[in-house]
Amino acid sequence: MASIERRTEVTRARLLALLFPRRCPFCGALLGADAVQGTVCPACLPEEMRLQHLPPRLPEGEHAFYALGEAAAAYYYADAVRGAILRCKRGGRPWYAQELADRMAVLIFGALPARRVGELPQYRGLHTLPLYSCIVPVPPNRPRPGVPGLPLLLARRLSAVLGIPVVTPLYIKNPGRPQKELNREERLRRAKAAFACRPGTDLTGKRVLLVDDIITTGATASACAAALLQAGAIEVTAAAIAATEELPKAQQKKER
Ligand SMILES: [Zn+2]
Repeated sequence: MASIERRTEVTRARLLALLFPRRCPFCGALLGADAVQGTVCPACLPEEMRLQHLPPRLPEGEHAFYALGEAAAAYYYADAVRGAILRCKRGGRPWYAQELADRMAVLIFGALPARRVGELPQYRGLHTLPLYSCIVPVPPNRPRPGVPGLPLLLARRLSAVLGIPVVTPLYIKNPGRPQKELNREERLRRAKAAFACRPGTDLTGKRVLLVDDIITTGATASACAAALLQAGAIEVTAAAIAATEELPKAQQKKER
């Protein structure tokens, strides 16, 4: 029975890949049978590996975290990773969220990579106690009706891989200037009061996985975590595609 289900799933993935061919999130090239782990074209692999955040856990000293248990990112926010995220967010190509979420599943959560383009990575935690009760995306600063932001798209795909439901209790109380226009102190101050859970949200006893696209100062993730704790969550862990930290020397681009 399980093998029939698996075969149906594979056929469905192949059919979808035929109708909507998957592309490398780092360069936009069509992903073929030679795609690495079903997500990256062979030409981008050296760059993809250079930018990986190893280990994914973020050092406290680089970010101003509070209320958060732990935070992790798959990559450093630089070069091709930066390009991939901007393509999703501002380039009007949100479909790369699927491949980026799959990289997060593999690099942060240790899922087994997809065997083919378009297939789901396999998460082996299925037979043990789930690490998290739910996945919560960071809400968009300027929500557009009917258009899911990148964190929500990442959360949905991670939900499919990890087998944990997505819930969206967070909202922004007072949207102001975009975060990137603010300095570190302004971000911290503004973020602290910016997020809340909708009235009636009950996260009592829940372990929450908070998902965002980029972690910079950690102000947003921390403020979201504080709001989730206030709604009863017992622990909040943050995960992002990338973190803004200086690349270790050995991973910096070689000057020619
Ligand atoms: Zn590529």
